[in-house]
Amino acid sequence: MRNSRPPTRLILGASPPSPRRDPRFGPGPRSRGPGLSVLAAASLLVLAFLAPAGARAETEASETSLGERAMETVRYLSEEIGVRPAGSEADREAAQYLAEQFASMGYSVDVDPFRFRARSPGTTQNVVARYPSEDPRLPLVIVGAHYDSVPTGPGANDNASGTAAVIELARLLAADPIPGVAVRYVAFGAEELGLLGSQHLVDNLSLLDRARLRLMISMDMLSVGEQPAFHGSEPWLSHALARAWSQGWEPVVMPPNFARMSDHGPFLQAGLPGIFFYWTDDPCWHLACDVSSRVNPQAIELMDAIAAELIRIAAEP
Ligand SMILES: [Zn+2]
Repeated sequence: MRNSRPPTRLILGASPPSPRRDPRFGPGPRSRGPGLSVLAAASLLVLAFLAPAGARAETEASETSLGERAMETVRYLSEEIGVRPAGSEADREAAQYLAEQFASMGYSVDVDPFRFRARSPGTTQNVVARYPSEDPRLPLVIVGAHYDSVPTGPGANDNASGTAAVIELARLLAADPIPGVAVRYVAFGAEELGLLGSQHLVDNLSLLDRARLRLMISMDMLSVGEQPAFHGSEPWLSHALARAWSQGWEPVVMPPNFARMSDHGPFLQAGLPGIFFYWTDDPCWHLACDVSSRVNPQAIELMDAIAAELIRIAAEP
């Protein structure tokens, strides 16, 4: 998340719908204290839901959960590569790693460089993955996360967590695509310098893509804190809140100034639909203590499940 103000939150005022427990995603904080057997059963059901079609994928998913796979990306970006400010060698290394990840799933990948002027000028890039034969007649959803960090910390929650969520969603939907929608996955550069990667993408979006863009999801800092949090366009905001409630969580709505706090911002400003997936609040935001051991993989699983649900809704005629 961008550094312009400390995080605050606005508690959702409306009374919650009565939670309809869906065991696929495990218990939320409103249902503390389930027995171990319940947790184990919920974990198995998570795997059953998240497992992509195909025997090979099922075998892999039964061995490793989505959250555990996401943690591999979180650790690689925040530990192996570490601090990765836009324009640095570490920034290029991270982009290369992410491009290889998307390509290994069968996506067509563009590394799109752009110049920026911060304290000193530099060059960074967005990494964009799409279906090799994307149908231009279908509605479009863009799911993105910035992969750069500030110079003052390794950026595990901000934002290796969101990047890992995008990678794992791409893996899930490569194995088990949602018909009727085209999805692009973007790792944005230079978010911490002022949402520059997402602004670059919006500035270069074709008229056709603008017309068919049904939703942009920005995943940013979504794994440390107490509650899932959202900001953005209706009806997507309501859909996301309802989905989080149904899983036993108490989601919060972030205040209007969050329109410029993450990569959904340039989309909203261009009159395009966008939503911010966030988790509130991380006391290690932009600090050296933003490390992978604090990242909660279950939060990443929840947010990917909500993202998949919104994509399914976007695919409806
Ligand atoms: Zn940040």
